[in-house]
Amino acid sequence: MVYNENMDGKSFALLTFGCQMNVHDAERIAGILLEAGWREVQPEEAEAVILLTCCVRESAEERLYGRLASLRPWKEERGILVAVGGCLAQKEGRRLMERAPHVDLVFGTHQFPRIAELLEEAAARRICALEMDGLRLADLPARRRENFRAWVTITHGCDNFCSYCVVPYVRGREVSRPLGEILEEVGRLVAEGAREINLLGQNVNSYRLREEGRSRFADLLRLLGREFPEVWIRFTTSHPRDFDRRIMEAIAETENVCEHVHLPVQAGSDRVLQAMNRGYLAEDYLRKVEELRRLVDGVVLTTDLMVGFPGETEEDFRRTLELVERCRFDAAFTFIYNPRPGTAASRLGDDVPREVKLERLERLAELTRRLTAESLRRRVGRVETVMVEGRSRKDEKTWKARTRGNQLVHFPKGSEDLTGMLAMVAITSSGSWSMHGELIRVC
Ligand code: SAM
Ligand code: SF4
Repeated sequence: MVYNENMDGKSFALLTFGCQMNVHDAERIAGILLEAGWREVQPEEAEAVILLTCCVRESAEERLYGRLASLRPWKEERGILVAVGGCLAQKEGRRLMERAPHVDLVFGTHQFPRIAELLEEAAARRICALEMDGLRLADLPARRRENFRAWVTITHGCDNFCSYCVVPYVRGREVSRPLGEILEEVGRLVAEGAREINLLGQNVNSYRLREEGRSRFADLLRLLGREFPEVWIRFTTSHPRDFDRRIMEAIAETENVCEHVHLPVQAGSDRVLQAMNRGYLAEDYLRKVEELRRLVDGVVLTTDLMVGFPGETEEDFRRTLELVERCRFDAAFTFIYNPRPGTAASRLGDDVPREVKLERLERLAELTRRLTAESLRRRVGRVETVMVEGRSRKDEKTWKARTRGNQLVHFPKGSEDLTGMLAMVAITSSGSWSMHGELIRVC
């Protein structure tokens, strides 16, 4: 979707690679530029093309360089301005400018509030702006892609330094946003029509832990639940070390906090978990999952898993399979470890052969696919309250919606626009990734 009310302004297009953090940063960048009088267009017509990147995994990085190469003819023919921002820009800095001489502007993860002035300056000379001097999000506009769903950053940066991860180096130390600022932003979004608020942070569970020596995340959930009883509240990502009973109880006891927890475990072997610097052992994780399932009725539990961490043996990997079976995850993202320059793990050597990593990934994915299908099948015959996301891309007459547990449901219905509405749906069948149902009523 592009917005172009500023008919006379200069034009820009945004291309985003990577995780939800980048997608949300893109909303901010677009908001700032629109407010500064720019207009958003398709990349083929843009005077400035801005690429927003992730560098958590190598694949996003490769895609970025591929896309950058494809912009060179536009630079030569039309003289477009090329800008690259986000994690990869922060990590690569001047190297990126050397590798891609047609890039005019590289801006880091703390620099996007200055995007309008940086683009103006970059029209005259190449700029590399990487200072990490604190990110202030208050009062920054955002152009949201969806009206009914909104993302609200509650912490930025990360202090955990998991040994494989580049995030703390490219997004800086963890900082929690002031409570008043979050409440104000959520209030504005709700007034603009948001029905679902997604709280965002690399480790939302440590909200204010650094500042107050105690996590206030459970309090934040309860407060938002009370202040905005009509909206659904979701949050991501949780860290198993800081995910505690107070948070579980807040989810259980706050009616409009959705019963979905994304709790990345990464691995099932204690040796690997310790080498990853995750701060918990497999038994700790299993105990928390058991407690969560006991306290939060019908909770949907999802996770991230990694194979091929340095030194991972077949025995270590089997422990991951075992833990996954015992947790009965409702869904999982599975990744192949790849060394990220500058991280502690990159100094351990990447000693698991590629074929072994691929074979483990396939075995793990087969297991998680089975668990997902089983989780969906268990819901057949139930009635679920869902929030409607919009029409299915494949079939105009079918609506796409999500349960409180964030599972996908399709159901048929005539022409009335249901986007952003709550509905009761009877689940009639399930597949590998989604369920089908019949609409009972719109709430
Ligand atoms: N802060 C969140 C957390 O701790 O789960 C998200 C971090 S990261 C953006 C999302 C996932 O990418 C991680 O959970 C991890 O599984 C994966 N990941 C991070 N670094 C990786 C690496 N070097 N190789 C492969 N996967 C990686
Ligand atoms: Fe990376 Fe670990 Fe921080 Fe997640 S918690 S962003 S994996 S360092």
